[in-house]
Amino acid sequence: MINSVEQNSNLGYSRCYVAIGSNLADPVTQAQEAIVALQTLTMSRLVSVSSLYASKPMGPQEQPDYINAVACIDTRLAPIELLDALQHIENEQGRVRKEHWGARTLDLDILLYGDDIMSTPRLTVPHYGMKEREFVLYPLAEITPQLQLPCGQALSVLLEACPRNDLAIYQNIE
Ligand code: ATP
Ligand code: MG
Ligand code: MG
Repeated sequence: MINSVEQNSNLGYSRCYVAIGSNLADPVTQAQEAIVALQTLTMSRLVSVSSLYASKPMGPQEQPDYINAVACIDTRLAPIELLDALQHIENEQGRVRKEHWGARTLDLDILLYGDDIMSTPRLTVPHYGMKEREFVLYPLAEITPQLQLPCGQALSVLLEACPRNDLAIYQNIE
């Protein structure tokens, strides 16, 4: 009975995972503000958020270190509507796109949208880089260790193949 109530309350919702990244303008605050924005996302419920992690930049190295996290969201927004909403939050927090993989106040990437597999000019899910990125896989495993990707691969297997590099849980030492 409890299951059926739970199922009903989840009717029409898709479980999504969103990667949060920032390395400009107080990245910890940027990530925390992004989490608040995700809490109030229309037609959606924030289910859980990982710890904040500190990581070294991917791509151009002459930029500050990153703060990363992953959030789990149940949403009734369509995939492209979710992307629009996330890009709106990025813009609200001052995102400017210059160099590919360059420094940014906020990056919000859709890692997974339910079990959907899609590739359109604006949106590819699962996110094309998620399987190799330690700053995505480790926070994701913190909130959903048993996750299986839509292709059938277990997150735990991907983790075994992915070195942590310099990834560390962010410790507030103030
Ligand atoms: P990367 O995608 O390698 O992490 P990035 O996040 O820095 O790089 P952005 O400048 O944030 O790249 O996004 C570039 C474009 O990627 C966006 O305009 C968006 O249309 C597209 N895109 C495709 N798939 C996704 C996805 N799953 N999540 C977010 N954006 C996506
Ligand atoms: Mg990104
Ligand atoms: Mg992005």
